[in-house]
Amino acid sequence: MDPRVEKFMAVITAKNQGEREFHQAVQEVAESLIPFIEENPKYKYAKILERIAEPERIIIFRVPWIDDKGEIQINKGYRIEMNSAIGPYKGGLRFHPTVNLGILKFLAFEQVFKNSLTTLPMGGGKGGSDFDPKGKTDNEVMKFCQSFMSELCRHIGPETDIPAGDIGVGGREIGFMFGQYKRLRNEFTGVLTGKGREWGGSLIRPEATGYGCVYFAQAMLGTRNESLEGKTIAVSGSGNVAQYATEKATELGAKVVTMSDSSGFIYDPMGIDKDKLDWIMELKNIKRGRISEYADNFGVEYYEGKRPWLIKCDVALPCATENEINEEDAELLVNNGCFAVSEGANMPSTAEAVEIYLKKRILYGPGKAANAGGVAVSGLEMTQNSMRISWHREEVDDKLRQIMKDIHETCIRFGRENDGFINYVNGANIGGFVKVADAMLAQGAV
Ligand code: NDP
Repeated sequence: MDPRVEKFMAVITAKNQGEREFHQAVQEVAESLIPFIEENPKYKYAKILERIAEPERIIIFRVPWIDDKGEIQINKGYRIEMNSAIGPYKGGLRFHPTVNLGILKFLAFEQVFKNSLTTLPMGGGKGGSDFDPKGKTDNEVMKFCQSFMSELCRHIGPETDIPAGDIGVGGREIGFMFGQYKRLRNEFTGVLTGKGREWGGSLIRPEATGYGCVYFAQAMLGTRNESLEGKTIAVSGSGNVAQYATEKATELGAKVVTMSDSSGFIYDPMGIDKDKLDWIMELKNIKRGRISEYADNFGVEYYEGKRPWLIKCDVALPCATENEINEEDAELLVNNGCFAVSEGANMPSTAEAVEIYLKKRILYGPGKAANAGGVAVSGLEMTQNSMRISWHREEVDDKLRQIMKDIHETCIRFGRENDGFINYVNGANIGGFVKVADAMLAQGAV
């Protein structure tokens, strides 16, 4: 490791003990940025990177709620307000039993760079709870969401902090939280994004992260005169991002052969076409079933407890969760001919896996660039809310496409190496940093 990065990371790990994912995210960024900062000393003297790695504010609170048996349950609630240099805090809420401070800090940190890359005026934040919506009734989910929002509503607002969805938080949860915010504050405002179409939501918001991830893959492939047409794709996850990544990739002529959940994955060599995807959407979004049921229904193979990366593919779209591709998986992917990875999930590849992609010179789009489409359309939802208008589907999709193209261009501008190879990691990290850093310089030591 570069001794300057090592020195920087020693302080980060000492100050944020035990927060493994946060260290991982900061180190990746520091490796790109420290050489750049040395060449641009104004950022060094103002300690911009040190400040970006320290949240502006962290709110942690108790979330008591009563389950269907009448028993009191207690969860932890969090909101990390990471950086507001270029706009109000913006970032999703995650409800999952693994949620802890380190995971949310890594997500909030990534969000700062991602939001800057979109070119929209949004700062970075993230939040959530260790509450597990799986196996809960709609009534229990509502009770939890209402209690969570009863505290969170003091800290957020359309000009301050605007949460959205993430793992375990979809349209149902956003609806319950919006209802409670409105009730307590007596305000109908764009305080959350990912709202229903009839009450302030934007068309294409549900699709945006998955579609954007595929648009980014398309742009990367374009640099090698390739397209998605006829390519075999491995997707992980079967939630919001995975579903719409599969939809768009299929629409563009690719064949998606895998999807997964936390129990295992299915391999459908014929491809998950539109009808099969509709079936998955009903299974996951309405019946809340398991992906193994797909294997039973369509007579394909199910790999219990495994991840899709052992399947031969041209392009991988990890869309489930962090660190789901390790060194061994990355080796397998590349050795089986995979030449592009576009990350729908946040930090799905471990540092060792990323090293392999870069060493083997494959096309690698890190999450903060490749999955920025979700927050970009959230930004467009905020604009529509402020203007009190609704754009058509095509209009939003066109804007999303353009934003993903622009992010790709930014990555090329800051990430092209001397031999022509595009290092999208450096491109995204430096490209996302400059705007935030310049705003912080202008605003003084706050
Ligand atoms: P969902 O809750 O809709 O879906 C998550 C999917 O990932 C499910 O299939 C889930 O399986 C699987 N999964 C979750 N945790 C694990 C785990 N520990 N191991 C294996 N599989 C797991 O979430 P989203 O689709 O919204 O989010 C997926 C990823 O995309 C996350 O990394 C999120 O941060 C990122 N992201 C999401 C955005 C959005 O707009 N929603 C925006 C940008 C990034 P199971 O059902 O078994 O839990």
